[in-house]
Amino acid sequence: MKETSVIQTRDMAGREAELFGWVANRRDHGKLVFVDLRDRTGIIQVVFSPKTAGYDDAQKLRDEWVIRIKGLVKERPEKMRNPDIPTGNVEFEPHELEILAEATTPQIPLQTDGYEVGEDARQEWRYLDLRRARLARNIAARHTAALHVRTVLSHHDFIEVETPILTKSTPEGARDYVVPSRLYAGKFFALPQSPQQYKQLLMVAGVERYFQFARCFRDEDTRGDRQPEFTQLDMEMSFVNREDVMAVNEAVLIDLVKTCFPDKRIQEIPFPRISYAEAMEKYQTDRPDLRKDPDDKDLLAFCWVVDFPFFEKTDGGWTFTHNPFSAPKPEHAAWHLAGEHTADILTTQYDVVVNGWEIGGGSIRAHTPAALRATFRTMGFTDERIETNFGHMLTAFASGTPPHGGIAWGWDRLMAILLNEPNIREVIAFPKTGDARDLMMHSPSELSAAQLRELHLKVET
Ligand code: ASP
Repeated sequence: MKETSVIQTRDMAGREAELFGWVANRRDHGKLVFVDLRDRTGIIQVVFSPKTAGYDDAQKLRDEWVIRIKGLVKERPEKMRNPDIPTGNVEFEPHELEILAEATTPQIPLQTDGYEVGEDARQEWRYLDLRRARLARNIAARHTAALHVRTVLSHHDFIEVETPILTKSTPEGARDYVVPSRLYAGKFFALPQSPQQYKQLLMVAGVERYFQFARCFRDEDTRGDRQPEFTQLDMEMSFVNREDVMAVNEAVLIDLVKTCFPDKRIQEIPFPRISYAEAMEKYQTDRPDLRKDPDDKDLLAFCWVVDFPFFEKTDGGWTFTHNPFSAPKPEHAAWHLAGEHTADILTTQYDVVVNGWEIGGGSIRAHTPAALRATFRTMGFTDERIETNFGHMLTAFASGTPPHGGIAWGWDRLMAILLNEPNIREVIAFPKTGDARDLMMHSPSELSAAQLRELHLKVET
């Protein structure tokens, strides 16, 4: 078993160690063969000479072969130090070399940061792409951030609850991914666009404070920074008002940045608040970039955007702007129930924005059957359709439902911003391409005739 990581050798000069990893690079200098051994924590220079063990085998080594070495960590002579890598003050004198696996020549270069490699090649050879230091760092940093948030939220009395992936369509504005049912011909599950209804039902169930790192699925035409599946940090709280939810979220965001991304500087605390109307008037966007110094890559200008209109006009009717389950602002509750002044009703929605990116949004919810029904009536739904689509929510809300509200953060996007990455694909282990394909697994793919039959499906193209 691997006991020592490469990074630990930094402080191990004069001591024996056993290392496992990949050949990142081999340089043959006649008598001396230099091998950079890489594991997920970094690289160390191994120096083979005719006097060390493994000299003959070292000549055979090629990039990405997997090896085990045992030997001595040595302080490098002053003039041989490499300040560019954390282990640059030491090198390794091997006493044993074992080749654990050979490797084909990598299809993409792995020693660069990878930005110069074509996106399709990076996706096709993603398991290789992930070996590069930048991506290894991103994946590990994402883990550390998630671990921290889980701890902080647990301290705030939240519990993580998993909700189903096979579910029913929710009207959240995007197209659903659907899964045909084998047992019920002609029926389909939908993959969740978000756990919105389940998390509200958890509030009905008395959970009081829920969170989840939730996978969400939206079948949209993929635009630059979108993925068919992505991760939300999803939360819901009972017995709260808008201020309460915003306060907890602001505290957790600040804590996350300070603890896990200490190089980052938050421009203004508490986060400034701006109304939708003011944002549109001043910045012509509801995602304003408030950075005072846009050249500072470590500056984070968070703000909250509030007071959005609840409804927007469609051809001949109304639809919700954000979330049909939201409550109106308390001062507009009577208009909402009566179906009056629709254009003027403001919602309790709050969005959190950083450097011009929306990284989260949520609202206080309609928690009475009457309030939820009013929203769908304003949208022109008949009582029958409301019952068919949302009867389960109305029935649940009639069973003793606490006032509640929540939010979801776009976890991939937040990680991309905190890790200075231009695209969420850089912080997702196995993303899809811009046109929603997985070039490594070759999906989507056809089903066999037998599978289609079993699912009661006929394909017409
Ligand atoms: N479910 C919402 C969304 O996905 C977030 C929320 O209101 O909690 O945008």
